[in-house]
Amino acid sequence: QSKRNGRDRITWFDTHREQEQAKLTELIKRMELAVSHDELELFYQPKVNMETCEVIGVEALLRWRDPERGLVPPGDFLPFIEEHPFSITIGNWVLNEALKQVSEWRSQGVELPVSVNINALQLLDNQFLDSVSTHLSHYTNVSPKYLEIEVLESAAIGEIHKAADVLAKCKKMGIPVSLDDFGTGYAALDYLKRLPAQTLKIDQSFVRDMLTDEGDLAIVKGIIGLAKAFRFEVIAEGVETEPQGKTLVELGCVLGQGYGIAKPMPANEVLPWLKNWKCPEGWGGYESL
Ligand code: C2E
Ligand code: MG
Ligand code: MG
Ligand code: MG
Repeated sequence: QSKRNGRDRITWFDTHREQEQAKLTELIKRMELAVSHDELELFYQPKVNMETCEVIGVEALLRWRDPERGLVPPGDFLPFIEEHPFSITIGNWVLNEALKQVSEWRSQGVELPVSVNINALQLLDNQFLDSVSTHLSHYTNVSPKYLEIEVLESAAIGEIHKAADVLAKCKKMGIPVSLDDFGTGYAALDYLKRLPAQTLKIDQSFVRDMLTDEGDLAIVKGIIGLAKAFRFEVIAEGVETEPQGKTLVELGCVLGQGYGIAKPMPANEVLPWLKNWKCPEGWGGYESL
């Protein structure tokens, strides 16, 4: 009896795995077509200094314009391919597209740094640094400091030695590094000493409830304190309201990004947005403590 149960379970498990595998293969096939049919697109979300209202750059965020499903957010496809080598192909497409855009803005007289999200597989891939410098060399009017890479805290600590080495080389090349979704990746604090990053990006989940949840407020304050102690810059993501922005500035986090400032937008909307951008009434000029 128990033997049969065991065998049934294995059969179920194998079938399940085969189904998952088939789904992944199908998704990758569709995405390969998406690339060749030009259905991938980058949206850009501004990052600003909430104290001075200066725009400090934009983050590139991937979208898939699927003729059948419309605009598909990255959460609906990237997580499924993140361990597959195809995600490196996508990552290279994103790098090239973002740099091409920065180069185009530059030739129109606008200097706007771009941040690109890099997944763990891409970061730890042996070709990564070469491919970054190759892409940069294609766009002669874009210097490395106009490209920032955002790495999930969890990706950076997964293989800390290798990640630290790659990030150090990025730094040497003049490419700034942010630790994204900071506070969610369980990094041991002494890792912070070893990671050659410039910026901690406070995860939006802490910002969302910081005004009502004391625990979240404590985490936000803690990250700002760590950033100060370790001489990182700090930026808050998910800033949706004026009181959140004001409180962050008072706590010493002047850089922010979020729907309360601007939603991610198609490339052709960025320059018009820049022209019209004014700090919301009551924003800016906060005295930081
Ligand atoms: P992320 O890098 O942490 O990006 C922030 C996400 O929060 C974006 O979602 C953005 O649209 C959203 N967001 C920004 N401000 C607000 C706000 O005020 N409120 C709320 N509720 N959300 C806000 P998106 O574009 O759906 O991207 C989700 C995640 O997918 C990104 O998180 C990033 O981890 C990943 N991703 C996006 N594009 C790429 C890419 O080109 N390559 C890689 N490897 N990952 C990417
Ligand atoms: Mg990011
Ligand atoms: Mg994030
Ligand atoms: Mg995130």
